[in-house]
Amino acid sequence: YYAPPAQIHGTAAELLDQEARHASKVMRAREGDQLVIVDGKGGRYEGPIRRITKQSVQIEIQESQYFDKPQPELLLGMGIIKKRDRLEFAVEKAVELGAAHIALFRSRRTIKENVRMDRLESITLSAMKQSLRTWRPEVTLFHSIEEVIASFPEAQCVLAHEKVSPSKMSFAHLAEGKDQPILLMVGPEGGFADAEVDKMVDAGAELASLGSHRLRAETAVVALMSQFLS
Ligand code: SAM
Repeated sequence: YYAPPAQIHGTAAELLDQEARHASKVMRAREGDQLVIVDGKGGRYEGPIRRITKQSVQIEIQESQYFDKPQPELLLGMGIIKKRDRLEFAVEKAVELGAAHIALFRSRRTIKENVRMDRLESITLSAMKQSLRTWRPEVTLFHSIEEVIASFPEAQCVLAHEKVSPSKMSFAHLAEGKDQPILLMVGPEGGFADAEVDKMVDAGAELASLGSHRLRAETAVVALMSQFLS
């Protein structure tokens, strides 16, 4: 379950809203049942339920652990994909595979402009819990590729591009400088325009291949993120 730090005070934690409804109505939890909670900021807590209603679940924390942010920090820049289910699939898998931040961007070949951020927030939260992560990833929307690059000036930027030779498929060197975040850029279904690629390369991005075959954008996200499993 998820409770942000504001709902955790000493040895007492409280689940509210959707989390409380899920515990009480879907899981039919009872007083005394043991729950595991993460706060999205590295904290993991465990303990029994002391009071439960549909609106609020109060837990007595008996065990707590803190986990450092995974390093290197993985940031995914992803062009908005037109089909909602494909976009949501990509976001879910990116979180499971360890993205700390998903920066959705509009680019020249963006077909769809509107994104249901509320749905993406809830998918992100479920995927975080599902994969037993303790840090809650952020999802943000950017108006351009330039804006994404400018927002993460300290990151090493890698741009997945289908026109790059498959000999450029090595990623291990990026994880070596562990304290530097890695920004992975994947284009929308129409790909990056040549001018966009040139701009990113001028700004210091490295081009990378994901093999000699053209992958769908959401497959490219999974293939690229999988290079950095830890
Ligand atoms: N430009 C193509 C087109 O017009 O159909 C394909 C774009 S592809 C469907 C979407 C994104 O996935 C690309 O912008 C790139 O970031 C990534 N991608 C797909 N296949 C790739 C490959 N073999 N190597 C590297 N990146 C790839």
